[in-house]
Amino acid sequence: MTRKKVLITGGAGFVGSHLCDRLLKEGNEVFCLDNFFTGQKQNIVHLLDHPYFELIRHDVTAPFFIEADEIYNLACPASPVHYQYNAIKTMKTSVMGAINMLGLAKRIKAKILLASTSEVYGDPLVHPQPETYWGHVNPIGERSCYDEGKRSAETLFVNYHKQNNVQIKIIRIFNTYGPRMHPDDGRVVSNFIVQALKNQDITIYGQGQQTRSFQYVDDLVEGMIRMMASPGAFTGPVNIGNPNEFTILELAEKVIQLTGSKSKIINMPLPPDDPMMRQPDIALAKKELNWSPKIELEEGLIKTIEYFKTVI
Ligand code: NAD
Ligand code: UDP
Repeated sequence: MTRKKVLITGGAGFVGSHLCDRLLKEGNEVFCLDNFFTGQKQNIVHLLDHPYFELIRHDVTAPFFIEADEIYNLACPASPVHYQYNAIKTMKTSVMGAINMLGLAKRIKAKILLASTSEVYGDPLVHPQPETYWGHVNPIGERSCYDEGKRSAETLFVNYHKQNNVQIKIIRIFNTYGPRMHPDDGRVVSNFIVQALKNQDITIYGQGQQTRSFQYVDDLVEGMIRMMASPGAFTGPVNIGNPNEFTILELAEKVIQLTGSKSKIINMPLPPDDPMMRQPDIALAKKELNWSPKIELEEGLIKTIEYFKTVI
């Protein structure tokens, strides 16, 4: 077997750390690059003694050089609370990070994957969302630093491919949850589980009629690996998500039931530009990657609840 050298930016984050685990398990050498803005040492501490794991503290907005066969570009805060904390930095991370990593990929002839997002569809007017939908994004809204940052990153990826023959892969990730989400991450699944385990009020923004389609992290990692291994002509973008759609109220009720919590549901203001519905059309991933998610919400929530019991 040839041991691939794989660079993962944002490797100490929630998704990145699971990808590090999987790639090491498959016998690869992993370079985990992170500036620890939202990532945690805790997520990768079990890998620090692994002979084929290397941790690099670096910010992707600055150029970086290493020899690698593949690059997974994940560096970017993903929770609305965190990406809105410093909107300019979020945009720099997406755009300058993409330029730096694409420049590196070009120079070392590495294959490079972008972790894009369902947020490129904004508050969608087409449901479910296929990759052919151009989206409905407010370019000056609260979410635009993230949405437009990722849209610009997609543009950069496609043009480095066209102009410079860089081998690119773009995936659009839909709401993903699982162990190693930060307890204060601010995203809905971690918020609800932490609140339920502490018997605190469950905070629903708005009336909870907005929908999301939740994917367990192992399914995402499988999709990422398949996309990276797919034939060169298939560059994406491809949706990677679980099409089973739930209202936020349904999610809250499920979390209360699975934790046996005494928490009460309370309603808080709905943040501006919060998408009213979201569901991936995954026909393309099925066709090109022979991929579909395997873990349904209840099974994934049970695993995630077990994890949060150990950390809070
Ligand atoms: P996360 O916040 O846990 O991980 C992001 C990681 O990137 C963190 O470790 C953070 O410290 C690091 N990072 C941020 N800015 C950086 C910078 N300038 N330089 C170097 N490292 C930096 O979030 P996640 O859920 O693991 O998301 C990983 C990727 O997947 C992100 O690009 C995100 O946009 C994308 N994504 C995730 C979801 C999801 O539901 N989890 C959905 C769509 C897209
Ligand atoms: N949400 C909520 N309560 C929370 C956190 C989030 O009702 O404590 C809602 C949020 O308004 C959104 C949905 O849950 O409609 C998903 O939010 P999240 O931040 O997880 O991700 P998004 O899909 O909006 O990027």
